[in-house]
Amino acid sequence: NTETLYCIGCGAALQTTNPQAAGYLPAARLAKVTDEDAEVYCQRCFRLRHYNEIQPVELTDDDFLRLLNTIGEENALIVNVVDIFDFNGSVIPGLHRFVGDNPVVLVGNKADVMPRSIKRGRVRNWLESQAHNQGLRPVSTVLMSAKKPADIERLLTVIDRYRGDRDVYFVGVTNTGKSTLINGIIKQTSGVQDLITTSRFPGTTLDRIRIALDDGHGLVDTPGIIHRHQMAHYLSDKDLKLVAPTKEIRPKTYQLESGQTLFLAGLARFDFVRGHRSGFTAYVDNQLLIHRTKLENADDFDTRQRGALLQPPRPDDLADFPPLVRTEFTPKEDSDLVFAGLGWITVPAGVTVAGYAPEGVDVLLRPALI
Ligand code: GDP
Repeated sequence: NTETLYCIGCGAALQTTNPQAAGYLPAARLAKVTDEDAEVYCQRCFRLRHYNEIQPVELTDDDFLRLLNTIGEENALIVNVVDIFDFNGSVIPGLHRFVGDNPVVLVGNKADVMPRSIKRGRVRNWLESQAHNQGLRPVSTVLMSAKKPADIERLLTVIDRYRGDRDVYFVGVTNTGKSTLINGIIKQTSGVQDLITTSRFPGTTLDRIRIALDDGHGLVDTPGIIHRHQMAHYLSDKDLKLVAPTKEIRPKTYQLESGQTLFLAGLARFDFVRGHRSGFTAYVDNQLLIHRTKLENADDFDTRQRGALLQPPRPDDLADFPPLVRTEFTPKEDSDLVFAGLGWITVPAGVTVAGYAPEGVDVLLRPALI
């Protein structure tokens, strides 16, 4: 039977090769389908129906662009989820053009890992200025944690305020926590079974999940796209758990002389190149190894110890791990040197430092959050 079968939930063509892509069904399950008219769900829709949980799907760039284009044509409220630990890795380039005249609510997710000592207002201002740099003018910016029911409640209130007579589209690249957020919304909405309907969008293979609202409109989850500049892209799931901050970060301060280096496991590196003895505070996952050495020995140490003492990356992943690229900075004001997806290290005004991250992963300077 060579007929293409379609999931009756989302309309995606069923396939058995890529569990992350739309329409996936294990081969063994598909083999059991003998009747051409059988009503078959892809694994994702199956899970949604039975466990009220959505699973993320990954899209190709082209599919994602088509998806964004169709959103621009709708009259909708757009909710864009970004990871506040990796703004650059989670922006959707050109989103402001795709959304057209539709209003955007910007969700800065994972606020639960920000130390409480950092004022939320500052984080929100910073996030807004980042959005403005991208040409995005959100009607509202919400700092939240997709893992906190109270935050989800708060977001739903904001959405209600702005959605008017419109559908709501959730967009975001993978790893920003969009699935966690949607699952949170599903769990929190009473009478879940009845409220969730999956609908087919004719003419596309784009898998969307729609949560019906009582006024005939809906919340629509759209698939995420992988951002190649994310640290996550270079790590296994296991390692990602070790580096992506998951609990409130406990800042660690190091008094450094110029000519000293901090390794953030084997993933990133920070050199104090020039300046008076100063305090540098690292905001990274509490479990992430920070190792101090002399700058003059650092290259050699890196060569010998990456994948050994400096883990992650694991020895098995070394071959595929991109080389670290060095960028030097002398900030004029107190700043944060951000390692996209990992966290940041504070840098006082006037000193010269260098940040290293895997090729393709951003190292950048921003005005200090504290
Ligand atoms: P998606 O690819 O955007 O759908 O992202 P997921 O929902 O799969 O989340 C990606 C990772 O971020 C997972 O490890 C989640 O547990 C984690 N995550 C999601 N939301 C939050 C949050 O609010 N706080 C924290 N600390 N982690 C989160």
